[in-house]
Amino acid sequence: MAAHIIDGKKISAGLRGNVADAVHRLKRDRGIVPGLAVVLVGNNPASEVYVRNKSKAVTEAGMRPLDRHLPDSISEAELLALIDALNADANVNGILVQLPLPRQIDPQKVIAAIDPDKDVDGFHPLNVGRLGSGSPALVPCTPLGCIILAKTVRPSLAGLEAVVIGRSNIVGKPVAQLLLAANATVTIAHSKTRDLAAVCRRADVLIAAIGQPEFVRGDWIKPGATVIDVGINRVPGEGGKSRIVGDVAHAEASAVAGAITPVPGGVGPMTIACLLVNTLRATCAQNGLPAPNLN
Ligand code: NAD
Repeated sequence: MAAHIIDGKKISAGLRGNVADAVHRLKRDRGIVPGLAVVLVGNNPASEVYVRNKSKAVTEAGMRPLDRHLPDSISEAELLALIDALNADANVNGILVQLPLPRQIDPQKVIAAIDPDKDVDGFHPLNVGRLGSGSPALVPCTPLGCIILAKTVRPSLAGLEAVVIGRSNIVGKPVAQLLLAANATVTIAHSKTRDLAAVCRRADVLIAAIGQPEFVRGDWIKPGATVIDVGINRVPGEGGKSRIVGDVAHAEASAVAGAITPVPGGVGPMTIACLLVNTLRATCAQNGLPAPNLN
């Protein structure tokens, strides 16, 4: 039987609607409008598209976009001064610095300069440590989206075998921490893992975050498994056009898996929805309010 397709577009739209409702209540009852500052340095076309999409989603959720677009030539000291100003600005509840940054700027220094309570990307070392030690944290958006999608078909991940392929700081490691926090038995596989196919075949939940088109084959999938495909890879398509595929060979895997995310339309739309969730959570925490109920 063909796998259930986990519809990230629909699930993210529902989540964004719930965030917008909560933002409306916050404004009506407390006069608070969450503000998100997205900082873009330079003119990387892909980054410009991401930032535009983020600002649109922020506005649609009833939040205030406080974007800052800076020239490519800006110095590290100037960017750090801007981060200081955003940290001190009470209208700014969330700060996101779009990566990559130009060569003269050390991204780790910039991330570490963000107030951890406004760090809606969840990349600050304090939030990384909080996630690892099981304390309340702002959690990276794509991993959070993966867990929400997995839980739509596996409401409890407790005791399940989870395999994450990829150990990046933005996806692989944090998603593994979230699975562990949900009581899954977690294996992190990577480019040096031996017999990756056999490791994957153990997985009740398989999360692929590799960056290699259709790398995970159908016969690596345990029958009935839940497969979350994080990959976004552009490959040549028909008529000289390109198309986007994931890290999983979708057609093959769908024939074996119990449920699977499509690419596009799976994890991708969840990332922006989770950015809105984090901005709302940060706003509530900064105002001494309980975490919003988004169900
Ligand atoms: P990355 O390059 O930082 O990390 C890739 C990881 O894959 C590494 O840890 C590496 O060990 C592992 N890997 C590479 N080759 C491998 C191999 N042959 N066998 C096993 N493991 C291997 O990438 P990333 O930033 O984690 O992103 C991964 C993918 O997810 C990319 O396609 C990226 O575009 C996509 N992504 C999507 C979203 C989204 O919103 N949907 C967000 C972030 C990243």
